[in-house]
Amino acid sequence: MARFIFITGGVVSSLGKGLASASLGALLQSRGYSVRLRKLDPYLNVDPGTMSPIQHGEVFVTNDGAETDLDLGHYERFTSVDSRRGDNVTSGRIYSDLIAKERRGDYLGGTVQVIPHVTDLIKAFILNDTQDTDFILCEIGGTVGDIEALPFFEAIRQLGNDLGRDKSIFVHLTLVPYLNAAKELKTKPTQHSVKELRSIGIQPNVLLCRCEYEIPISERRKIGLFCNIPENNVIQALDTDTIYRVPVNYHREGLDNAILRHFNLPNEEEPDLSKWDEITDIVTNPKGEVNIAIVGKYTSLTDAYKSIIEALDHAGIANNRKVNLQWVNSRQFVSDEKSDELKDIHAILVPGGFGEGGAEGKIAAVEYARKNNIPYFGICFGMQMAVLETARNIAGIKDASSSEFRPSENPVIGLMKEWQSDDGVQTRDTNSDLGGTMRLGAYPCELKKGSMVRKIYAQDNISERHRHRYEVNINYKNKLEKAGLKFSGLSPDGLLPEIVERPNHPWFIGVQFHPEFQSRPFAPHPLFKSFVAAAIKHKEG
Ligand code: GLN
Repeated sequence: MARFIFITGGVVSSLGKGLASASLGALLQSRGYSVRLRKLDPYLNVDPGTMSPIQHGEVFVTNDGAETDLDLGHYERFTSVDSRRGDNVTSGRIYSDLIAKERRGDYLGGTVQVIPHVTDLIKAFILNDTQDTDFILCEIGGTVGDIEALPFFEAIRQLGNDLGRDKSIFVHLTLVPYLNAAKELKTKPTQHSVKELRSIGIQPNVLLCRCEYEIPISERRKIGLFCNIPENNVIQALDTDTIYRVPVNYHREGLDNAILRHFNLPNEEEPDLSKWDEITDIVTNPKGEVNIAIVGKYTSLTDAYKSIIEALDHAGIANNRKVNLQWVNSRQFVSDEKSDELKDIHAILVPGGFGEGGAEGKIAAVEYARKNNIPYFGICFGMQMAVLETARNIAGIKDASSSEFRPSENPVIGLMKEWQSDDGVQTRDTNSDLGGTMRLGAYPCELKKGSMVRKIYAQDNISERHRHRYEVNINYKNKLEKAGLKFSGLSPDGLLPEIVERPNHPWFIGVQFHPEFQSRPFAPHPLFKSFVAAAIKHKEG
């Protein structure tokens, strides 16, 4: 039976619980155990799919088509375990299932209550599909004390009892701030956070203390004493220069040892963490730098592009370069050959996006890249804008538009009404719900013989993750190809354009899917790797 690690956070949000969980997962893997990571989000949306990326950051899409929290991206990147729909749940999902059951009459005669009905559903979610895994790491979103998170805390408290000490452990991530005025590290917020957790019945077994400065042993002893935790289970989590150092640092501080000790598992043998050291070395001593512009409209919160940033980082590592990102707000960007914003740029990427705002700026960025032979990578909306640019500026379809913006005589990008998925034929129209109804998850794509992408992937068939409602309209294929934009990847039935490229440009590729979701530090995505190589070539000649 699996062992369960419950990870909670206290004091403040944004402590990096997702990365901490992912790092612990990677450490347990290095000890030879299988892991699966799960995220429980207390907010009331059924999933993050309808939330603005500026509020919540990127929506991470799984192979099986779930729209999930961006922490699942950290889990996948650090452990290489593909997440599934069952690895992320929200209060909204739990309550919507609960109300559906109530209406069906499943609780007939009973009063439906948070305890036990909501907590039972949360427990069932946590325990589902866990048989073949050694460790299930369950991260609770938010911070202890949040009102909406209470049912989740209660559920894991109950599970602690149900499973027993030898099958469950509670890890709490806190902050030990440094007060500049007093020149001191402060342990009181951690003490209060643990007190809060204990007041709802949870005694943490391990504390992971985020800090900017080393926590002296005397202070760790004090934290242990006040929080009722053995001193060597008070683990320091010092800020690092790169995220790839985190697993090694946690190991050095004894995190995986503390977990294994708790479960009476052997911990004498040193795990091999050399692969983490190797990428840390490259990241901290790159051979050079390259500048890439990201032209998007969610640039005020870069978490909106988390997986793209990470995928560029992986590609930088693969090319032994540091990738500097220049954020360009597409709402303000206007076409200008002498644009200052793109002066020292070696490649341009237009990421995914929704709605008409900023679209003209993105089309201007495509035109700039095309005319100046600057490597261009269009992802999802970025591909659609590349297609509109060719349609308007070369193919002579002046009013070419997307039906996402408004009805048009020339919907070069159109609403897809019907397509085949694993669950049968899916249909949509303009009145359909917006939540969870896009073309979501992994779909196959066939690559054209002789194309650039076929060479880059070194494969003729690929599978990539999707998240979009609109498609390039296949009826315009001939006109666009005559204008120099080749359709180099199509769905197996030949109806959905998946990839376009410009053979007469050094590197110009647009993809309807999101390759960034499959990039890993130890397996960089071929398109990103090739794109960064093209940027280096553009810079260094
Ligand atoms: N808004 C576009 C669509 O729905 C693109 C979506 C995206 O970039 N993920 O098709």
